[in-house]
Amino acid sequence: MTNRLDGKVVLITGAGSGLGREASQLFSSEGAKIAIVDIDGDRAEQTLKLVQEAGGEAIAITADVSQKDQIVAATDAAVEKFGKIDVTWANAGVVSRGGVPTVAGGEQVLFEDLTEQDWNDVLGVNLSGVIFTAQAAVPHMKANGGGTIIATSSAASFLAYHDISFYSATKAGVNGLVRALALDLGPFGIRVNGIAPTHGMSPNFLMPAGSPVVGQSYEQVAGPWVPFHSPIPLKLNRPPTLLDNAKVALFLASDDSAYMSGSVLNSADGGTIGRVGIWFPE
Ligand code: ADP
Repeated sequence: MTNRLDGKVVLITGAGSGLGREASQLFSSEGAKIAIVDIDGDRAEQTLKLVQEAGGEAIAITADVSQKDQIVAATDAAVEKFGKIDVTWANAGVVSRGGVPTVAGGEQVLFEDLTEQDWNDVLGVNLSGVIFTAQAAVPHMKANGGGTIIATSSAASFLAYHDISFYSATKAGVNGLVRALALDLGPFGIRVNGIAPTHGMSPNFLMPAGSPVVGQSYEQVAGPWVPFHSPIPLKLNRPPTLLDNAKVALFLASDDSAYMSGSVLNSADGGTIGRVGIWFPE
C-alpha cells in the first residue's frame, strides 16, 4: 500500500463487477473511501464485502446512471456518508445490441435492424450516464475547492470494431465530453480525464462476432506470445488484467496526475491499439 489516495473519497459507477470492482479494491487499498454504485444492488454489495474484508471503508448504493435523479441521489448519499467527494469515476457501461453476441447473450443484429430503443438504451448509460454522473458531482466538488472526474471511454472510440456502431458512437461522445468539461470545469479546480480500455478486460469477455476468433477468451487468443505474430505486441507472457487497467485509473484519480486534464488515456493494452487488424493475427 502506497497511500496514493489517502483521505480521498471516490465514487465509482458500475463498481459491481469488472473494472469498477477491481478499482474499488485497489483504490481502497490506497487509502480511499469508496462509494460503490451499480444498477445491480447485489453486485454492489458483493464489491462492498470484498472491500470491507480487506479492511477498507465503503458504501454500496444502487442507482441507474441513465436516470439523473438516481445518480444525483447516490452522489448526495456518498457525500452525506463521507463528508465530501474528491473523485467521481463514471464507469458504468453497456455493450450495444448487435455486437458481441457472446457477451450480450443476444443474436447478431444488422445495423439497419437496430431499433430506436436499442440506441436510447446504450446512449442513456454510456453517454447520458456520464453526463449525469459528472453533473451530480460538480456542485460538491466546487464546494470542496476542486476534484477529479474520470470517464470510461473505449478503444472503440478511436478504432472501428465490427457490429458495435452504437457503442462506438457513445464512447466517441465521451471523449468529446472529457475535452469540453476540462475547459469548463478547469477554472474550478476540477480535472476531467478518460480511460479507454481495449476489449477483453473482463474475465468473462469472449471475442465478438466478425472476428475469426469469435467465442474464444482473450487469453486463448493472446497466448502464447510469439515474436512479431501475437495480437499483443508487448512480451509479458500474460494477458492484460483488470488490475493493469485499474492502475491507469489510479494514476488519473491520484495527485500524480495533478496537472492532467482533458486527456483520454489508452488502457494497459501492451501496444495493441497501434496495431492494424489486431484480431486478425497472421
Ligand atoms: P467492464 O468489463 O467494462 O467492467 P462489466 O459489464 O463487467 O464491464 O461491468 C459494468 C457494470 O456496470 C456492471 O456491474 C453493471 O451492472 C453496471 N451497469 C450497467 N448499466 C448500469 C446503469 N445504467 N447504472 C449503473 N450501473 C450500470
